[in-house]
Amino acid sequence: MDCRLTWGLSRKTLSLLYKTVFLPTLLYNCSVWESAISKKKIVKLLLSTQRPYALAIARLYKSTTTSAALVLASIVPLDLKIMEIVTKRALVPNVLPFSFLRLVTESIDLINNTPAPRNISLKLHHARLLDSETCKRWNLQWNLSVTSGQSKRFFNSIESSRVLNNNNLPFFIPRVISGHCSLNAYLCNIGKISSAACTCSHPVESIDHIVFECSKYDKIRCSLVSAASAYDLPWPIPLCIFAQLKHLWVAFCNFLVASKRFV
Ligand SMILES: [Zn+2]
Repeated sequence: MDCRLTWGLSRKTLSLLYKTVFLPTLLYNCSVWESAISKKKIVKLLLSTQRPYALAIARLYKSTTTSAALVLASIVPLDLKIMEIVTKRALVPNVLPFSFLRLVTESIDLINNTPAPRNISLKLHHARLLDSETCKRWNLQWNLSVTSGQSKRFFNSIESSRVLNNNNLPFFIPRVISGHCSLNAYLCNIGKISSAACTCSHPVESIDHIVFECSKYDKIRCSLVSAASAYDLPWPIPLCIFAQLKHLWVAFCNFLVASKRFV
């Protein structure tokens, strides 16, 4: 693959560093101070601490909102991570299932009262339920977020954003999804250039324009349209559909690479 698409430490390596160095350091003995996350200013402080890591992992512009950065970097918000750790600790046999937080107590009760299927171990059963609980809460936060509109147009759920966990993903894809990328609509919005117009003379060079309309990309768009028609989807399709269908997502990434507009 073109090295311009994969420069620097990989997403996988940066995520590993985050999980093995940053998280254990910050969350050491977090069960002791878990009640602090009931305060909004503490949650805000925690999120601002993990924000630079999210921006680095997903290679996003600093203007990207924290909620979008966390989703695009696939790193769980720290308040939810703490709840997960405390819940997991309470599920260990002979440990008193005690927590100051109502949500954690609810999770402990739910997991303890959900019988494990016969063919999987109790440990795996608990891990799946914990992951499901965290994902449910993260989806709730994501749906309530009012500052990440463009990213939400691509990812209407946390689960759909998992397509980004691919080590061969061109570095600019999360930027395109965030809307904070090299397109004229964004550059004009932040005052870097004076006009948002596309060179094809359309007044706004946005991601919608590039993907669905711009005459400069008519030729390479054919494979994208045919990928959609293979799923019987009428063109144009909502942006959120790309991440939900494997071959369509691959065609979408290939289209953006072939456009050479983001490298
Ligand atoms: Zn155009």
